[in-house]
Amino acid sequence: MFSDPYAHAIALIAGLLVGSFLNVLIVRLPRNESVVGGRSRCTTCRKTIAWYDNIPVISFIALKGRCRHCRSPISIRYLIVELISGGIAVALVAHFGFSLLALWMYVFLAILLVITLVDWSHQIIPDVLSLGGIVLGWTGAVVCLPVSLPDSLIGAFAGGGVLYGVGKVYKIIRKAEGMGGGDVKLMGMIGAFLGWQMVFPVLLIASFFGAAYGIYLLIRGESSQTPVAFGSFLAPAAAVVLIFGAELWRGYMGFFLR
Ligand SMILES: [Zn+2]
Repeated sequence: MFSDPYAHAIALIAGLLVGSFLNVLIVRLPRNESVVGGRSRCTTCRKTIAWYDNIPVISFIALKGRCRHCRSPISIRYLIVELISGGIAVALVAHFGFSLLALWMYVFLAILLVITLVDWSHQIIPDVLSLGGIVLGWTGAVVCLPVSLPDSLIGAFAGGGVLYGVGKVYKIIRKAEGMGGGDVKLMGMIGAFLGWQMVFPVLLIASFFGAAYGIYLLIRGESSQTPVAFGSFLAPAAAVVLIFGAELWRGYMGFFLR
């Protein structure tokens, strides 16, 4: 399977097509619009986008990133999401073949990608993704993931519980809402997929990402009061732990225990 170019091509095409659907989710979920019915429209002139202008990657390049009708620029985000989705699909099939494990890991990473972008722009984490993700994580623990069901169940409650506790403490100290319910549910989903053992590594890496972004804002001279969605750091951190997991954690512990 590893050397099969057809498998890679099929995974790439499937990944690009699903990536195109992920773009639909990113645009429509925060607006509570149906994600299945209705043709996609240009966000500027509202003209329906023809199928031949909606082919992943190819259409974007052919139209030079502009709407065919009003020529207004199309966000590069559409292209990037399609490419990331296609890349993930190829990498997973290369490592795990066309297996349930590859499918489950793809779905997890795809949900994390959508949550990162939706939370970043709207400070919302749709329940259908986080709560649905918890159920998918538990199911995966039974079916194919290398996580036991008890670890997955405890992971969901430990992940959600830790953030819930942090939010409560923050509220008492700062008398302000710091951690949203969306972050709690997202961390529950991450715990369900990765097991309770990975809850702390994910929180640690997310905090590094958050701190790095804070420093970036400081250098740019922007206010630190800019609302920041912690979910946008949690989700990529979970992806990092999934992809580099064991190696990363061993390295980190090794650094301290040396
Ligand atoms: Zn247009």
